[in-house]
Amino acid sequence: MQIHFWGTRGSIPVAANGLTIRDKIKQALLLAQGRHFEGEEQIDRFIDESIEFPTQYGYGGDSSCIQIIGGDEYMLCDMGSGLRRFGQHIMQKHGPQDPKVYHFFISHVHWDHIMGFPFFPSAYIPGNIIHIYGGHSIEKLEEAFHRQQSNPCFPVYWDQLGANINFTQLKENQWHKINGFRIKPKRQVHHGASFGYRIEKDGKALVYSTDAEHKQENEKDTVGIVDFYHNADVVIFDAMYSLADMITIKEDWGHSSNIVGVDLCLRAQVKHYCMFHHEPAYTDETLFRILQETRRYAEIVREGHPLKISTAYDDMVIEV
Ligand SMILES: [Zn+2]
Ligand SMILES: [Zn+2]
Repeated sequence: MQIHFWGTRGSIPVAANGLTIRDKIKQALLLAQGRHFEGEEQIDRFIDESIEFPTQYGYGGDSSCIQIIGGDEYMLCDMGSGLRRFGQHIMQKHGPQDPKVYHFFISHVHWDHIMGFPFFPSAYIPGNIIHIYGGHSIEKLEEAFHRQQSNPCFPVYWDQLGANINFTQLKENQWHKINGFRIKPKRQVHHGASFGYRIEKDGKALVYSTDAEHKQENEKDTVGIVDFYHNADVVIFDAMYSLADMITIKEDWGHSSNIVGVDLCLRAQVKHYCMFHHEPAYTDETLFRILQETRRYAEIVREGHPLKISTAYDDMVIEV
């Protein structure tokens, strides 16, 4: 399977402002001083080889939305603002006259995880079928979506949507067969609870585990998480805060640190630890620095087990 990250930011979408872009241009020009380029190809090579990731690309600012590619129908986790761009991609690819089936797995209904839905064109087009799954009750899921598209929050109301939309509560800690995958939800510690999903197909395992605060204070809870992550090819993990922020101010805010993620993934023998749900106040440089620090920490504590570590960015595609 493949994963396309349409949105990776936590809590609220962010955009690079003019000063940030100007600063990136300035840094790139400084690095290019005295060089001569024969054409676009040479410029691209220089960007790839000589300019660091935060300056040449950056992490993006859409909120949580990932697509899991590998089934016959479309399948995604969460509907943050990244869903808007996924929806545009679908319109470009199929146009409005070609109905599709979509499966959405919702971690929870906090705003940053459902705010993309009113901007998802397929929801307005009759013929499309949209299955929304969650660990919460159907009433809870429906209420959040209905409220989001009602007066005075949004001008287009829920009953104006044209697609066939249905909600399903998935039993936690049980396997469910959907779209050729097997999927198991697990309850996580977060305000109002959130659900992580272990998704498997063809011997490969992905865990989508966002909006969860792992404190490692209760061994039983920790063992439960380690079992859930065990041997996964990739764990997409809520590493919203740096450890320093976490222990000084943001304890009990419902999110985890980069360091807890390393500890859990090493213990669970995960292959690839992917940090996700980035703090909106962190700049590209800050996220890049946290990635280097996280890799250094893992090198010190890992005791032989190799662990790939990455920071998710908008439009990153990984093979699982
Ligand atoms: Zn969130
Ligand atoms: Zn949340």
